[in-house]
Amino acid sequence: MNSRFRFLASVFISFVFAAPSAEAQLKTRNVVLIVSDGLRWQEVFTGADPDLLNEEHGGIWETPEQLRRKFWSDDPSERRRMLFPFLWGVVAKQGQIFGNQNKGSIARVTNGLAFSYPGYNEMLTGHPDSRINSNEFGPNPNTTVFEWMNQFPEFHGKVAVYATWETFKNIFDEPRSQLVMQAGWDLPEKGNVTPRQDLLNDLYRTTTRLDDEDVWDSFLQVPLLDYVKAAHPRLLFVGYGETDNWAHSGRYDLVLESAHQVDEFVRQLWETMQAMPEYHDQTTFIITTDHGRGSGLEEWKEHGVDQKGTENIWIAVVGPDTEALGERTNAKPVTQAEVAATVAGFLGKDFRQAAPNAAPPLPSVVSQPVAAGK
Ligand SMILES: [Zn+2]
Repeated sequence: MNSRFRFLASVFISFVFAAPSAEAQLKTRNVVLIVSDGLRWQEVFTGADPDLLNEEHGGIWETPEQLRRKFWSDDPSERRRMLFPFLWGVVAKQGQIFGNQNKGSIARVTNGLAFSYPGYNEMLTGHPDSRINSNEFGPNPNTTVFEWMNQFPEFHGKVAVYATWETFKNIFDEPRSQLVMQAGWDLPEKGNVTPRQDLLNDLYRTTTRLDDEDVWDSFLQVPLLDYVKAAHPRLLFVGYGETDNWAHSGRYDLVLESAHQVDEFVRQLWETMQAMPEYHDQTTFIITTDHGRGSGLEEWKEHGVDQKGTENIWIAVVGPDTEALGERTNAKPVTQAEVAATVAGFLGKDFRQAAPNAAPPLPSVVSQPVAAGK
């Protein structure tokens, strides 16, 4: 082949195969995956549970009247909006949310265990792994979509994990994946710190821990926002833990308070990013949970194979490439495993090329289909 022909052939090939690429079609250039651990679909879609707004079953320390003033309305749509004003006022209006079983939309985990590590593995690698049957499993042998994305030059060093739970170091296999990682009670600020950063480190050192592996959500939010402003990650995982911890503690009042606060944290992150040119109108948020919980007067506290319905979750998506279909009704069931390929798809990559056993992306959250071969 002479060089001129080779040149023309390569132009032709790149025209045919590269022109309709997903990167050219999609507006999304950044993705944030946010998880509020063990936050039930019941609260997301119907708000505060009236059976648990009391001391006997909900273990509340606030008075029922105090809680009702903040979170109660007889109208379930108003009630859920009081609990999650950003989720219902912005995300579900401009994007989509799956999982309202009362309206024929099911989102579920497929790992059969419905606790945290198996769930995060399923969501991040695109498939359940029966070997992962304990939160103490250790380093994840599977490659997460975050680790995979970090290998592309345009994403390298721009993929980060900010999460309250220490175990994410194993779930993302920090030593192997080399992701930017802030997890658990590790001091968030290193080196020459400002007085403000020094104060934050002091709080990490001195605050009484409810759980040695899980820092308070608010303690994560401060370094998270600082990091986003300073480093401009293109793919970011954010993990909040209090919604799970307070349920295990049997404190339904604090489940509601922390769920409401997560909604506020997500709003802060969204508005911070939308105010930055590199994120404005080119950032997609995927918001979900790692597992459901039981329902009923006792079972809401726990999750796993002994609590019926724990496999049920919810998944929300908002961004410039997602049609505003709102609360999905009578939709094809979706799964937690579909999150991984969705994350990559929004960034113009086909995760299933690297992980053939990964589930396909969530249906109809990307307005234009992701081109094959990317
Ligand atoms: Zn839990």
